[in-house]
Amino acid sequence: MTITRRHFLRKAVSGTAAAAACATLTPAPAEARENKTIPDQAVGLLYDATLCIGCKACMSGCKEVNNLPLEDTIGEKLWDTPLELSGYTYTVIKIYQHGTMEHKDKAENGFAHIKRSCLHCGDPSCVSACPVSAMTKDEKTGIVGYNKDACIGCRYCVAACPFGVPQFQYDTPTPQIAKCQLCRHIQAEGKIPACADRCPTGATIFGPHQALSAEIDRRKAMKPGEPNLYPRRTVNSGDTHEKAAAEYVDQVYGAKEVGGTQVRYLSGVPFDKLGLPVGLPERSYAADSETLQHTLYGGLILPGVALAGLVAAAWRGSKDHHDDDEDIFDPKGGHTHG
Ligand code: SF4
Ligand code: SF4
Ligand code: SF4
Repeated sequence: MTITRRHFLRKAVSGTAAAAACATLTPAPAEARENKTIPDQAVGLLYDATLCIGCKACMSGCKEVNNLPLEDTIGEKLWDTPLELSGYTYTVIKIYQHGTMEHKDKAENGFAHIKRSCLHCGDPSCVSACPVSAMTKDEKTGIVGYNKDACIGCRYCVAACPFGVPQFQYDTPTPQIAKCQLCRHIQAEGKIPACADRCPTGATIFGPHQALSAEIDRRKAMKPGEPNLYPRRTVNSGDTHEKAAAEYVDQVYGAKEVGGTQVRYLSGVPFDKLGLPVGLPERSYAADSETLQHTLYGGLILPGVALAGLVAAAWRGSKDHHDDDEDIFDPKGGHTHG
């Protein structure tokens, strides 16, 4: 069946207008999408700032297994000295300092360390924002991975992440997004993430998300000052070391933030002083934005407007060259001339 192009355009635009008008008068009910939950078999990291000695072995291990170059910020060309996450640094140890810095893990006249990297959100904004599925969340492990071959460099993930994690490589003609992928490439070889593997104190440990949550509960129940055993490398490694229990602030970072994350933090210093964003909602941004999208798309407003725009542009581009009533548009075969 063939129709004239003018007929087609009229139908398309009027249909779009009708749909948009209808949607405007009776908007589609917005079914709020709930937070996605962390998979039962998810894996993650626990970083306990009270165990961290700031040795940065995690950072060098991360660079080594991810084949990342050194970054020299002090001009000596000897050491890897990144100050922030970057296009070539997936994890960084930073320090909080106050007053005389006499007391470790105290806010007043104290100091503390904090390890920054991707938190592997349960319901990640970066995945939701990526238009080409270059950012994905593994259904089983929950690892948020990145596919450089699919990436178009739009940097929506950079803008969408509430923790400022993904970094764009601006200094290369073939840029990629840089972020921790929980060392999934070496996990495939039976190894654990390098940062946990190299950490001498067990400040960073790897393991099943549920076991890490139980370990967090165990630590929170400890009496400050009492001797306790802390696992190294993995939560169930059996390789432990003894240390007096710390006094933690009353917050497990990542337990609630934007729906929960698979990398969680314990600290003796409030997390805002450590530079982590506080006051984030428990509802994920991905759930909010996808609910809004479904509301608009459910009413055919955005597709309708987009379609009308595309049709109008195509029509303007071709009308100078053809007689509308003689031009035939065959939906199956494209254009022919009658
Ligand atoms: S921390 Fe940022 S980059 Fe990592 S999973 Fe969450 S939204 Fe994505
Ligand atoms: S899990 Fe791997 S990529 Fe992520 S911070 Fe640790 S060492 Fe780096
Ligand atoms: S390796 Fe462990 S103790 Fe050393 S800086 Fe990293 S997290 Fe802290």
